[in-house]
Amino acid sequence: MRLLNTFTILLWFVTAVTVAAERPNVIIIFADDLGYGDLGCYGSPTIRTPHLDRMASEGLRFTDFYSAAEVCSPSRAALLTGRYPIRSGMCGNRRVLFPNSKGGLPTSEVTIAEALQQNGYATAQIGKWHLGIHDGSRPGDQGFQRSFGLPYSNDMDARADLPKGSAGSATPPPDGWNVPLMRDGEIVEQPADQTTLTRRYTEEAVRFIAERNGKPFFLYFAHTFPHVPMFASPDFKGRSRAGIYGDAVEELDWSVGQVLTTLRNEGIAENTLVFFTSDNGPWLIMGDQGGSAGLLREGKGSTWEGGMRVPGIAWMPGRIRPGVTSEVAHAMDLFPTVLALAATPLPDNVTLDGLDLGPMLFESRLLPARPFYYYRGDQVFACRLGEWKAHFETQNGYGQPRAESHDPPLLFHLGRDPSEKRSVASDHAEVLSQIADAIQTHKSGVVPGVPQLK
Ligand code: MG
Repeated sequence: MRLLNTFTILLWFVTAVTVAAERPNVIIIFADDLGYGDLGCYGSPTIRTPHLDRMASEGLRFTDFYSAAEVCSPSRAALLTGRYPIRSGMCGNRRVLFPNSKGGLPTSEVTIAEALQQNGYATAQIGKWHLGIHDGSRPGDQGFQRSFGLPYSNDMDARADLPKGSAGSATPPPDGWNVPLMRDGEIVEQPADQTTLTRRYTEEAVRFIAERNGKPFFLYFAHTFPHVPMFASPDFKGRSRAGIYGDAVEELDWSVGQVLTTLRNEGIAENTLVFFTSDNGPWLIMGDQGGSAGLLREGKGSTWEGGMRVPGIAWMPGRIRPGVTSEVAHAMDLFPTVLALAATPLPDNVTLDGLDLGPMLFESRLLPARPFYYYRGDQVFACRLGEWKAHFETQNGYGQPRAESHDPPLLFHLGRDPSEKRSVASDHAEVLSQIADAIQTHKSGVVPGVPQLK
């Protein structure tokens, strides 16, 4: 009996160690303000992205992947918590966090990093944070054991004498913004030398992957670029046909290549899920420094398709069958997807807004039909159900002072009219009422969090 017990314990131990060794690693690479049309594999004729194109050809490329919000802080909060930002309070009239904001991602929110860290994962955040600079909201308070990057956007903390419009310039002054570079909560350089950020982030990421010491890891790699002001390192500056914007994207592509090459060299590519996406659409008012949403309408800040439909590429060689999918998925799906892959239980008493994409990624199954809500700030402006999208209110990202209400709503068939040019509302009253019901149900289930973006 005693021998059996010892044997059982030994068996349990061996099994536990084996399972731990097989627990997949996860890397989320998050670009900032990268448009739907800015990568070769999404149709850019002028920006060369061979590494992302290869990632897409070896993995699954989404034609209909959405960021959870139309601007930065809400989008990041939703990605890391799996929840519409209205639930965490990370959205509102002041659309993102600023250096003088009092709020941040509440401690009560559970991030992917917190869940995975509790399950034995090594966790790191590299790049732009933008979820709060105060106690309780910083990377170290939200589950990241290591962090390296900027606390917010690279166009914040502008020098007082900086001429207006400098951020959108093709030649922004390198010392124009006093934004600090931080490591594990300490300032290590101020102003951060933005010309070498992508390279240094990448070196940090490669080091973290190589130093994992046999532990499974979660890396949240949120690039600073291509958010204005645009900078690229000497190796990339002037190389692209698309100006400094293209240079910055091509350097970002190089960075993705470095990460994937490291995974291959370390022999862990087959055991690592890498997901690449963007926090919102292109910042169109920045002109040549604003990127492109391709054939989609409008850009960052709006709930037209160009504001929130973004590149989405999932890669895990040998596990994800290569291809292209038109299934509708979004950034809030990553929370349940990653936790399921990492055999980590979902947090208790937390309302999640995403779905586990695992059956689709690993078994090529279709996703169940479900509505997607396009929030601008704390308001639902539009909703997609299947191929249909109804706009109840519209407002361009920037430069349009007030929202325009639509009654009846505008209705577009995104299959036949991806550019949202021809409303067919008058022919489809039944679709509009279905969508209105979905919004009603959604709103009745939302308990808004305490507003943080003040
Ligand atoms: Mg952004």
